[in-house]
Parts: sequence; C-alpha cells; structure tokens
Amino acid sequence: MRTRLATANLLDISDKLDAGVRLSLEDGVRLFDCPDLLAVGALANREREKRHGARTFYNFNIRLEATNVCVASCLFCAFARLKPGDPGAYTMSLEEVWDKLRRRANQPLTEIHVVNGLHPDLPFDYYTEMLRGFKRIRPSIHLKCFTAVEIAFLADLFTMTDEQVLRELMAAGLDSLPGGGAEIFAERVRKKIAHDKCGSDRYLDIHRIAHGLGMRTNVTMLYGHIETAEERVDHMLRARAVQDETGGFQAFIPLAFHPDNNQMRKLPPPSAAETLRVHAVSRLMCDNVAHVKAFWIATGVEVAQTALWFGADDLDGTVQEEKIYHMAGASTPESMTTREIERLIRRAGREPVERDTFYNVVEHAHAVS
Ligand code: SF4
Repeated sequence: MRTRLATANLLDISDKLDAGVRLSLEDGVRLFDCPDLLAVGALANREREKRHGARTFYNFNIRLEATNVCVASCLFCAFARLKPGDPGAYTMSLEEVWDKLRRRANQPLTEIHVVNGLHPDLPFDYYTEMLRGFKRIRPSIHLKCFTAVEIAFLADLFTMTDEQVLRELMAAGLDSLPGGGAEIFAERVRKKIAHDKCGSDRYLDIHRIAHGLGMRTNVTMLYGHIETAEERVDHMLRARAVQDETGGFQAFIPLAFHPDNNQMRKLPPPSAAETLRVHAVSRLMCDNVAHVKAFWIATGVEVAQTALWFGADDLDGTVQEEKIYHMAGASTPESMTTREIERLIRRAGREPVERDTFYNVVEHAHAVS
C-alpha cells in the first residue's frame, strides 16, 4: 500500500492522516487531482473504517415536498415552479401532507424529512401546524424539516430573525434541520447558480444558531456542475470550521448534480468516478463530521454501494416519494424497502445498521418493510 501511495504522491497525506494532522486546502486539491482514484479511495476507506468499521447506516424514513412553488430560480433546479397555477405547480393542503403519514400507520418510520420551495403566500402557521399535526398523528416521529434556505426565507417574509423562526418551529415540534440548500459555498459559483436565495454565510449561521438551540443538522454539497476542485475543498473546509465551533453537524452529504429539465442541461452529469472521488475527499477533509452519506437517489444505487468503500458509511434511507431528483432526471427508484437497502449493503460487503436520526441503533421486527 505504501508503494502505491508513494507512486500516487500521497504518502505525505497518508502520514498526516495517521498522525491526526488536518488536511489543508492544498491537500484536498491534490486529492482531487491525483490520477490514482483507488489510492484516494483507500485512504478514505481507512478513515471510514477507523470510525465505523464495516457498519453502514440507513434510516426508515419518508421524504415529503409539500410545495414546489418557489420564488427563487436556481439554475440546477427542475423541481421548482415559480407561481401557484403554473403547469406542474402544486401545494399540498395540510390534510394531504398529514395523510402521507397516516397512510403509513403500519410502517415503523422513525423520521420525516420535509423540504419545500420558497412559497410566497403560505401563512407561517402552515409550517407550524404541519409540524404539530405530524406529532399529533405520531408523537415519537422525528421531524427533520426545512432547509436553512427556507428558514432564511421565512424570516424575511414574516419579518422575524432566523433565530425566532427556528424557536417557533421548534416549539411546534421541529427536531432537526436537513442539510439542503448549501449547494457550493464559494460566492463565484453561488452567484451564478443560486443568486436569489440565502448566501453561504447566512446558511452556515442558521446551522450555527440551530446547533446553539440544541438541534442537530446535516450539511450538503452540490457537485458536478461549474465548481472547481478548489471550490469543493473550500466548501468542505467552511463546513469543517463551523463543526469545530459547534459539533452540530451529523453528516456531510455530497449531492450529485442532475442536468435534466433545468437551465444547466447542457452540462454532463458527474461520472461515477467523480462521485466516488467526491465522497472520498469529503471523508478525508471533514475529519470532525462523523458520517458521510451516499444519497443513493442522487448517485444511483450501484455507485452508492461502491461509495461504501470510498469513505461513505450512510445510505440515507427508504426515502419514499422523492421528487426533487426525479424531476431532474434521476432514474433511481423513488423508494426502497428496508430489506432492499439491507440487501444492497450486504452485497457491497458491508454490515447494515438501521439508525434513527441521531444514529442510535434501531432494533425492531419490521411489520412492513
Ligand atoms: S433549489 Fe430550492 S430554492 Fe432553488 S429554485 Fe429549487 S426549490 Fe427553489
């Protein structure tokens, strides 16, 4: 192995990792530039196994997008429809939203993940009532809802501070925030692909506030479009810096750009090799974030399985009803049963572990899986 790492010019990075010395921006860019993908993967796998051995986490969850009406115009987004009434635009009533959970009364779900477009007309209590309703239906369910971008939007719309919005939502039952909306933190890229939603500093600050209020959150990175290797590493380092302050991020989640049905459709999607490398470098750079997730909906199932040897230790979950990626051309299934997820983890040579949102092991006989 040392010979291979020496040939790949990665021996000094390997030694740093062994000594617990943090990797720098330059190290991260070298990992992206290194032609020997398997050597980079081997380093990431070593770090992954130090933390988790063969264990690979997944969650019995459901994902909901209550509205795709959105005032923003992110170039990579195939999900949003600008105005209510536009072809394809939808907004669920609260009864429709709650029905998604009611209809799964026989599923031992542990989490609901909700993200939405930035709807200009819904009242604030649409969001608080949504949360309260979920908890009425199933008090033990974990509510991981609303990206930092949504929190910023609600704060501006209702003339509140970001903290006030978070506190009101927590009082209504919010348990944690998903990591969506991070895209790429580098201002050059953000200005081009997501110019009219909250900026990187505010995104990170909302997560910082959420952590201060006792919530856990995730952080994502949209890769494979116009960003450079340096901008990817910069993104990882900005997340790492917040994690040094708060310790509140549970997982770093690379999200593959999908080019169908959006304004960036001339770009090719990221290759499997690029996806594996991004997961590997994420594991190596974000040394203080416990988990790296391969979101199988975005990567494709086979690449997600392979990513379990390139730094990833989490496959998200059963998901059910995903729309954002499927409207952008994802050909993955919209859901998997827990048995299917466990089988694909085992077939990748890893050990499946069902977790709750906080990575506590869930043990139960599944009534329906
Ligand atoms: S990515 Fe989110 S904020 Fe941007 S247009 Fe799509 S739904 Fe709206």
